[in-house]
Amino acid sequence: MSKQIQAIRGMNDILPEHSRRWQYLEGVIRQVVASYGYEEIRMPVVEQTDLFKRSIGEVTDIVEKEMYTFEDRNGDSLTLRPEGTASCVRAGNEHGLLYNQQQRLWYMGPMFRHERPQKGRYRQFHQVGVEVFGLQGPDIDAELIVMTARLWRQLGLSEHLTLELNSLASNAARAEYKSALTEYLRGHYDVLDEDSQRRLESNPLRILDSKNPAMAEMLSQAPKLSEYWDDESREHFTGLCARLDAAGIEYRHNERLVRGLDYYNRTVFEWVTDSLGAQGTVCAGGRYDGLVEQLGGKGTPAVGFAMGLERLVLMLEQLDNVELPQAVDIYVSAMGDAAELPAAKIAERLRDDFPTLRVMQHCGGGNFKKQLKRADKSGAEVAVILGEEEVANQMVSIKYLRADKPQASVSWEQLNQVITTFIK
Ligand code: ATP
Ligand code: MG
Repeated sequence: MSKQIQAIRGMNDILPEHSRRWQYLEGVIRQVVASYGYEEIRMPVVEQTDLFKRSIGEVTDIVEKEMYTFEDRNGDSLTLRPEGTASCVRAGNEHGLLYNQQQRLWYMGPMFRHERPQKGRYRQFHQVGVEVFGLQGPDIDAELIVMTARLWRQLGLSEHLTLELNSLASNAARAEYKSALTEYLRGHYDVLDEDSQRRLESNPLRILDSKNPAMAEMLSQAPKLSEYWDDESREHFTGLCARLDAAGIEYRHNERLVRGLDYYNRTVFEWVTDSLGAQGTVCAGGRYDGLVEQLGGKGTPAVGFAMGLERLVLMLEQLDNVELPQAVDIYVSAMGDAAELPAAKIAERLRDDFPTLRVMQHCGGGNFKKQLKRADKSGAEVAVILGEEEVANQMVSIKYLRADKPQASVSWEQLNQVITTFIK
């Protein structure tokens, strides 16, 4: 036997037993974003490498060590998208969707990062992203957060998620803070771990993000970003907080929340859980007012977030508090050659009359016992059985596979009435 080829590490198959939960999650998300009037945009999964370098930033984890970058046959440097915001801005600029307009967009799809695979962290993973262009006030920041809160309610996750909030203020204020922070960190150089020493000059804000307990005490004494906020950013932040208060959404102002990418300013937020171990952030986002221009468009304020679907699926799996639909509702069996075609007709008729029900017809023949075993395994509520005698009398037998009800025999005309009784 020849050796089997395996999937790439960190890139998972989603098998039928799991795809049902994925479909449920995706369905709820689609419904929630639509209920706020957001429209879907679909971008390619491959872009020019420069798009990500210019937007995410050269000294970020993603660009430094996580991108899948390759040369295509023309010698162009291409990259599998590690996130969606840059592509969305690229598409918006390219098609003239952004300048002087308002856009509320969302997308869903796979992202690629060469990270160390572990629970909640993969090399191909899936995000839903939401991006809004052309609006600069805290009202829209609040809308995005209120929308995510609604989503958690719908999914039954609210009690397991908390919201962390911060403002990165304006570029000028952040630059001032950066030098104060750098100076402070230089004074504690010996406490910095290797990563942080490297980041000290290139991306000192990221050091605040560190989970290294050896640095915790030193970092808690570091200058605070909020002491450097400009007036407008402070007002924006209090405006957002007031709206969240009004909506009854709790949050924690986390001074050390800075996010890993370069393009954020003002509002940043994360929804975190402690039920997934180290991979606790399920949704993260913020404002990126400079990015559209940075990517060659005309200045357009923007704000968005992305959530990791694997982490949400893991939470749903752990809680296991939703009843997922079975793949099959009705299993149609034919006993004997003469019954096969009438059974197929009945199955098609049921699909015509009940388009939301899942009707599976038995294929492959076999005796009564074997067919019933299949019917049971399919998860169906009932088996509709046609034998030669039923065909002769234009009847079907109905066997209830889950409920404790006796088998019934009804005419082809009455069948719909019986089926109607167990449509949810
Ligand atoms: P983390 O701190 O966990 O590395 P991040 O800051 O790199 O996250 P973002 O770039 O903000 O993540 O992506 C948004 C969301 O996408 C994350 O909050 C997370 O839920 C999910 N995500 C990011 N990277 C991965 C990954 N490698 N595998 C699975 N989900 C991921
Ligand atoms: Mg990361």
